[in-house]
Amino acid sequence: MNQRTDKLSNQKKLEQSSKFELLFYLTKKLLSTLKSKEVLEEFVKALSDFYTHATPKLLLTHEDDQYNDLPVSYFEWDTKVKNKAAFYAYQKGTIQIEEKDGIHRLYVPLKGLQAMYGVLQIVLPDKKAMMEIDFEILQHLADVFGNAFEKAKLHEQIYKRMNDLRLLNETSQTLNSNLRLSDTVQYMTQKITSSFQAEEVGFFFYNRKGEIELLKGSTEYFFDNNGSELVSVINEKIKAKKEAFMITDLKAEYTEADYCSVLVVPMIHNEELKGAVIVLHTKPYFFTYEQFQLLQSLINHFTLAFINSMLHEEMEELAITDHLTKLYSRLYLDEKIHESMKRDKSGTFILLDIDNFKKINDTYGHLVGDEIIIQVANLILENKRKTDIAARWGGEELALYLPSVELEHGIKVAERLVKVVRESTNPPVTISGGVSYWSADNPDDTADKLFNRADQALYEAKRTGKNRVVVFQ
Ligand code: GH3
Ligand code: MG
Ligand code: MG
Repeated sequence: MNQRTDKLSNQKKLEQSSKFELLFYLTKKLLSTLKSKEVLEEFVKALSDFYTHATPKLLLTHEDDQYNDLPVSYFEWDTKVKNKAAFYAYQKGTIQIEEKDGIHRLYVPLKGLQAMYGVLQIVLPDKKAMMEIDFEILQHLADVFGNAFEKAKLHEQIYKRMNDLRLLNETSQTLNSNLRLSDTVQYMTQKITSSFQAEEVGFFFYNRKGEIELLKGSTEYFFDNNGSELVSVINEKIKAKKEAFMITDLKAEYTEADYCSVLVVPMIHNEELKGAVIVLHTKPYFFTYEQFQLLQSLINHFTLAFINSMLHEEMEELAITDHLTKLYSRLYLDEKIHESMKRDKSGTFILLDIDNFKKINDTYGHLVGDEIIIQVANLILENKRKTDIAARWGGEELALYLPSVELEHGIKVAERLVKVVRESTNPPVTISGGVSYWSADNPDDTADKLFNRADQALYEAKRTGKNRVVVFQ
């Protein structure tokens, strides 16, 4: 008998010491883990090592999807009514015991240094299991967890914040690097899509007439019927609210909506509403409040870049020379053709467009793309007469107007340009040309009609294989 008691107490001692060892090991492990999910996993595992007959469950105060596969549920506001013991443990910060129909439940507060993170619920099958619990060890375990969980959570927050700052920094640097507006929008769309896992991103602004204009670089959806309907619905809301807002479930409002989660941030400059960005996802409650705030910071940076690009484009429109190519601006050319049509008897107009230019940009980058436009512009300058007017029509389209030049000669000039561009650009590109002609014999002709005819001819040149000249007949 004596021997047996001895044996028993020895075993107890052994169990006790291995428990302390386990506790020591666990403390070390938990406090060195920087991921809150791992802290939770280790804790749950340790609980089942310590209390083999018990079923643990964590009631946490803040929801987080990353814990979905763990025995975690969330404290609800009505816990006070539904689960008094859990609520008391949370409120008083001490272990609570509850017995109902022979089942024992323990509620252990989970606290860190800064806050309470929830309550651990342990369900015990009978009284015996209950009696075996060492409350001091249990509370210690819970405290170690609380501290480790807090530390990991703070670490995660800081890490996230750092990523957000990095994104903001990178974005503002890119926006300051003089991109074209459509490229800026495309860049923003990409960033928002990848950082927020957004499915659709749309930018629009109000043009001079106050109408909504979608910006190039927005995702396809916004250019569809459903997309533009959504834009006009959102537009009404923006005008009413005049500030950023999020919709967690648009389908609740409009059953036919394609997307549930919506973030809307207006672009405001000098207290004036300039436009807005709309970010969408099909799932309801998809975006977090933090993402909503981050989007607002991003859009603040973007708005400034957007206003600058718009001003720049407006100024370019007004300027006489194009800053990239140093050719005349379209506006100036337009003016000169009007003058010529009043003064001269005839003239030839050549509209040129670089072939497959998107591919050049994609292959070599925009800087080389710009460089190619300059090369083509210089070839035009080298191959024209003093009285001819060369202009940047827009983008990678250039134009040459030959006052008092007959069509046959104009065609030759156009063909020579196509040839020299093919032969002397590096990296090599080709151009297509559309040629049109006016003469005083047709008094109803206008500059706009002349442009239009060249444009149609150019279209035909593209359609029939590019790297060629087509004359409007
Ligand atoms: P196509 O042969 O039919 O003309 O094909 P393309 O690829 O040239 O087609 P498109 O005219 O649609 O594309 C023109 C591209 O040129 C789109 C735009 O990003 C780019 N682009 C326009 N302006 C500039 C510029 O000033 N610099 C650079 N690098 N690219 C420009
Ligand atoms: Mg073009
Ligand atoms: Mg082109």
